[in-house]
Amino acid sequence: MNLAERAVSKTYLPHTWRDMLLAHRIRLEPTPAQRDYFARAAGTARRVWNWALAEWNRLAASGQRPDAMRLKKHFNAIKYAHPDWLDDQGNPWLRTVHRDAHAQPFAHLARAWSRYFEARRTGEHARPPRFKKKSRCRDSFYVANDQFRIEGKIAVLPRVGRVSLSETLRWPGKIMGGSVSREADDWFLAVQVDVPDDVGRCRRSGSGVVGVDLGITAAATFDSGYKVAAPRPLKAALRRLRIRSRRQSRKHEAAKALAGIDVGGTKGWTLPKSKNQTKGAKALARLQARIARVRRDFLHKLTTRLCRENQAVGIEDLHVKGMLANHRLARSIADIGFHEFRRQLLYKAQRYGTRIVVAERWYPSSRLCSGCGAKNSKLALGERSWTCGCGARHDRDVNAAINLQRLATAALGVETALPVASQALTPGTAAGTVPAAGGKVTPARHEHGQQDGSGQEENAAHLRARF
Ligand SMILES: [Zn+2]
Repeated sequence: MNLAERAVSKTYLPHTWRDMLLAHRIRLEPTPAQRDYFARAAGTARRVWNWALAEWNRLAASGQRPDAMRLKKHFNAIKYAHPDWLDDQGNPWLRTVHRDAHAQPFAHLARAWSRYFEARRTGEHARPPRFKKKSRCRDSFYVANDQFRIEGKIAVLPRVGRVSLSETLRWPGKIMGGSVSREADDWFLAVQVDVPDDVGRCRRSGSGVVGVDLGITAAATFDSGYKVAAPRPLKAALRRLRIRSRRQSRKHEAAKALAGIDVGGTKGWTLPKSKNQTKGAKALARLQARIARVRRDFLHKLTTRLCRENQAVGIEDLHVKGMLANHRLARSIADIGFHEFRRQLLYKAQRYGTRIVVAERWYPSSRLCSGCGAKNSKLALGERSWTCGCGARHDRDVNAAINLQRLATAALGVETALPVASQALTPGTAAGTVPAAGGKVTPARHEHGQQDGSGQEENAAHLRARF
């Protein structure tokens, strides 16, 4: 099939809204007793999630249709009585944790399943909800909006009372909910605020159209030829991460040897941890948290700039599943955080009124000559530059960005010619161009920046439209 016959991109239009939901994630400064409670509440949320998921799977396996609300009812009936939920003295320990922490996992589970089914329906890669493992998942729990309030630099939370905040809440508006989560040694409170339109909407400083190619050598390349390097501290931290993880796995091997396990995994085993090992694990977690911070900060600056200066941004749809097959590539993609980039871009586009045009995943943005439109099928992954049959010399990333910029321009409905791949395999022959406007751009529904259903992602500021 010729490229001209297929929709080559999907446009995310900024839509009209009356209000929007933004999340501000604030670091908490809890006392040791408050930390202790947070850890218990997060542990409770995790355990309830696992219970609910196990029940769900059991019902589904026996041919029934599981329903999160009915599961919750069932859970409420047993949670203060069933031996699994009683402590050594026979007391229901759930009573010591605020009920929001053990009620919310059911709603999260329902959303996680419906997202999974929706993704499967549209043919996207999706994994069903999974069990949460201690220290492998993000510790978090939910607090309903009527259960807490913010007074300047103090948050008043259920059960623990007043907790100091590192900063005041950024936005005025109605508080819609909150969640407390941990990152290394720090606890954060993400507050969802229903922000009035005039506060949430930002003014754009330009109306350009830009194509951005995310890559390996440069974190981002614009169609103008401008390249954004990955932040230096990130590279240094990633190097340290490799060293420390290696150290940590050696400690793990040593612990295995000490326990008399020579080969194979340690699944189902709990190995005694040395003090040194615990210390190493903490250092590793802190480093990972730092890397996440640096990366998030970098992506925030990049995506804000893109949305603020442009009326349309063209990006590639990296087919993550396919890319992950290539290990070296997978690493670099994970490093720049493509998912996070796209998530931020989509919600900021709403605030700035910018269109995001995503090329379909098969669209060969790097292989099409931005000059004549011929397709270079032989372009290998490692080739940084190439020469087209028409004589044009291309920097791989800049060429891709130019093609993405064209898609964005086309989506704007501006009259322009779009390069189209010819059926011929040899580059430079029988190249053609077609007018861009002509129903090739399919409008897509706005994708909500996701407030992850499993409660694993709290810093997701997201927007919601009420029509
Ligand atoms: Zn060419």
